[in-house]
Amino acid sequence: MTNPSLLILAGDGIGPEVMEQVKRVITWYGDKRDLKFDVSEDLVGGAAYDKHGVPLHDDTMARAQEVDAVLLGAVGGPAYDDLDFSVKPERGLLRLRKEMDLFANLRPAQCFDALADFSSLKQELVAGLDIMIVRELTSGVYFGEPRGIHMEDNLRVGVNTQRYTEAEIERGARAAFELAMKRDKKLCSMEKANVMESGILWRDVVTEVSADYPEVELSHMYADNGAMQLVRAPKQFDVIYTDNLFGDILSDCAAMLTGSLGMLPSASLGLPMANGRPKAMYEPVHGSAPDITGQGKANPIACILSFAMALRYSFDEGAEADRLEAAIEKVLADGARTGDLMGPEGGTPISTVEMGDVILAALDASL
Ligand code: NAD
Repeated sequence: MTNPSLLILAGDGIGPEVMEQVKRVITWYGDKRDLKFDVSEDLVGGAAYDKHGVPLHDDTMARAQEVDAVLLGAVGGPAYDDLDFSVKPERGLLRLRKEMDLFANLRPAQCFDALADFSSLKQELVAGLDIMIVRELTSGVYFGEPRGIHMEDNLRVGVNTQRYTEAEIERGARAAFELAMKRDKKLCSMEKANVMESGILWRDVVTEVSADYPEVELSHMYADNGAMQLVRAPKQFDVIYTDNLFGDILSDCAAMLTGSLGMLPSASLGLPMANGRPKAMYEPVHGSAPDITGQGKANPIACILSFAMALRYSFDEGAEADRLEAAIEKVLADGARTGDLMGPEGGTPISTVEMGDVILAALDASL
């Protein structure tokens, strides 16, 4: 049996710094749990532009299509802000998502007890929170045609088109139902069926798919009400399935329920490959954080939690993902904090590498 393959694209800014700690965790699993990966590394974003003049080389794209999972750090930075749109660092990321056809974006909003005070909501509303938002990622208003800015009667008109086929809605819905089956078996679908035809179709298709998942309790909610409910009583949700635009906004809203950007992982999944594993890319939600790059201040937890998602969703190693998440929970409960996690009471922050050290020690202690 060959080892599962991972392609690491650390990217720009703090991407390489946080990814160093993920590499230590990957090595730990190989040494201590006999869970070995074939790891290769390549460039993306500004780092790829500096070397190749493009934010993602064709060879890197081809490699991403072959591996079992891609782990991405972050892209972008001030040095690249004035580049032409076609070669901006973010284009590398979008090319990966598009060509790998990663249509289901999984954004967990999970509140670690030790950080419940960090939320903008009352502690009791978020303690123990564990929501999964599934956002359709490859269609909808960000891609629909026609689009553009044109002149009409001497006025500029901006146009974007919300467009979904039933196949696009259905495949994301199946991903969301499958997740719900592994969790609390509750799925809330969010759209605006009251004012949008695409929302009516969305609701119809999700309802049709639900016939194949009789154990899952399905509910529907208008997305604006969903936003209100997320900040009023977020623990009512288990899995939320929504479109590209609403998902963009609702997942950021849910994310902030849990505190720092440095804590938020994500997964983007596509269709199954020949070996049954889904095409997959795992990445922290945060960007390249140029303001703290190179200072040892970055919190590596979002990137490490993204690897935990890879263990669970690509490699069927749910128990090992639980072990890694429990190790992170433990170091936070013990008071380990990078700068972004310092509360008003202050204290001394630890560095990126020190956070890696204590997480590895907690993993050792879990054996
Ligand atoms: P950002 O996420 O990089 O940073 C926002 C703030 O959060 C900063 O103050 C930063 O220091 C802090 N922060 C982020 N991650 C952190 C971590 N792990 N530990 C501690 N603090 C952390 O967003 P931004 O400043 O708006 O964007 C910076 C660059 O990143 C831009 O070029 C932007 O285009 C790019 N970006 C990339 C991605 C991505 O790669 N997926 C996502 C968002 C932004």
